[in-house]
Amino acid sequence: MLLARDGHQVTVLDRDLACPTPGREWEQWERPGVTQFRLAHIMLPRWHAVMSAELPSVLDRVTAAGGQPFNFAGSLPPVPSDSRFHTITARRPILEAAMAAEAAETPGVTLRRGVAVTGLVTQGDRVAGVRLSDGDKILAELVVDCGGRRSALPSWLVEAGLEAPAEERADAGFVYYMRHFHGARPEVRGPLLQHHDSLSILTLPGDNDNWSVGFVTSVRDKPLRALRDPAVWEAALARYPLAAHWAEAAPLTGVVAMGGLVDQWRTVTTPGVVAVGDAACCTNPSLGRGATTGLLHARLLRDVLRAGLPTSFADHTATEIGPWYQTTVWFDRHRIAEIDADATGETYQPADPAWTGAKALYAAACSGNPEALRAQLATACMLTTTPETVPTGIGPRYPLPGATRDQLLSTLTTAA
Ligand SMILES: Cc1cc2nc3c(=O)[nH]c(=O)nc-3n(C[C@H](O)[C@H](O)[C@H](O)COP(=O)(O)OP(=O)(O)OC[C@H]3O[C@@H](n4cnc5c(N)ncnc54)[C@H](O)[C@@H]3O)c2cc1C
Repeated sequence: MLLARDGHQVTVLDRDLACPTPGREWEQWERPGVTQFRLAHIMLPRWHAVMSAELPSVLDRVTAAGGQPFNFAGSLPPVPSDSRFHTITARRPILEAAMAAEAAETPGVTLRRGVAVTGLVTQGDRVAGVRLSDGDKILAELVVDCGGRRSALPSWLVEAGLEAPAEERADAGFVYYMRHFHGARPEVRGPLLQHHDSLSILTLPGDNDNWSVGFVTSVRDKPLRALRDPAVWEAALARYPLAAHWAEAAPLTGVVAMGGLVDQWRTVTTPGVVAVGDAACCTNPSLGRGATTGLLHARLLRDVLRAGLPTSFADHTATEIGPWYQTTVWFDRHRIAEIDADATGETYQPADPAWTGAKALYAAACSGNPEALRAQLATACMLTTTPETVPTGIGPRYPLPGATRDQLLSTLTTAA
């Protein structure tokens, strides 16, 4: 949409079909191309700010479909700058439906669904188009790979005799045990991402009267695999007072478990092709940064093309998107090491003052210190990569009320 509004003729190819009944996306839309389609998603305030500036009519559509306003600074005495922390919440199928409906009506955009890209058309050492599953091919001045984290672009480049992108890739080591609920919207009594001994809890408001709740822990933690059982999951959540009431409603789903989540960075330098979103930069989702990073990246592509500099997109990506990737991976690696240490009864104490500072800031924010909370939210909402202020000293390891590891294990055993 951003490119079409700049006068480019854009063809969007998606191997997944449209929802058969518009308005029934949650119930009916099959999206095998996006495995996390029905898992919890929150759009961070930075996403909302960019969408408000660039594509406000998409936000109107989300609101019309039941998207709910949400301010991350909700529990604080309001100050004018807190509008920075504002966003809209909706389940992913509702968000995607709004985005797709707007794309369908955007002059210059042609949507082709149910057709997969199977390879590249090349001209000398540059990409000149794509081959399709129906035998057709499309020539283009620029191919934009938006194929997500499992995009096959590297193998297509190699098949075409061109250079594969440089790639950094590691399994982040997290697993999610998520559920969706429907009912009277729960009161927000703590941060949406709550850290506890050996796990974190996500409580994510959605559209209409729907929301999601889940545990985030290590794939290596065998005892916590019992969280796949809804009865065990409910008993465990009841041990965390700021989150327990989020499950006091009708469940829309059982427990959906998802692991195998990678941190992945690809540098595509072949002329005629670029990668945007997860296809280029993908991180473990507990900080909820994927869609915002993808949107910043898409806007960057629009700006780079506007300046007539397509060949330097990889450099601009490294400068503008790289810091978000690096800080997210930095957080993930510390947090998964901390969770793994918790599970073995050790205390995670790395020699990294930035991690100590981040822990102290989170603790100060959780204690209700308004200055600390606003500083912590500024990074959580992707307004800045580096905290605006960091308290001195060391805070409690887990400042929020909730079960210790031993209490959690005993709850799991009893519930099982
Ligand atoms: C469990 C989980 C929870 C998450 N939670 C959040 C969150 O709270 N907030 C957030 O911002 N992000 C979250 N994310 C990340 C977010 O889902 C991704 O960052 C985002 O979907 C990336 O968008 P994308 O358009 O780059 O790729 P995708 O959404 O993966 O879309 C890729 C598209 O390409 C199509 N495709 C792929 N290959 C082909 C082909 N060969 N031919 C044609 N079409 C093809 C697919 O059908 C799909 O439509 C989460 C991710 C996971 C796994």
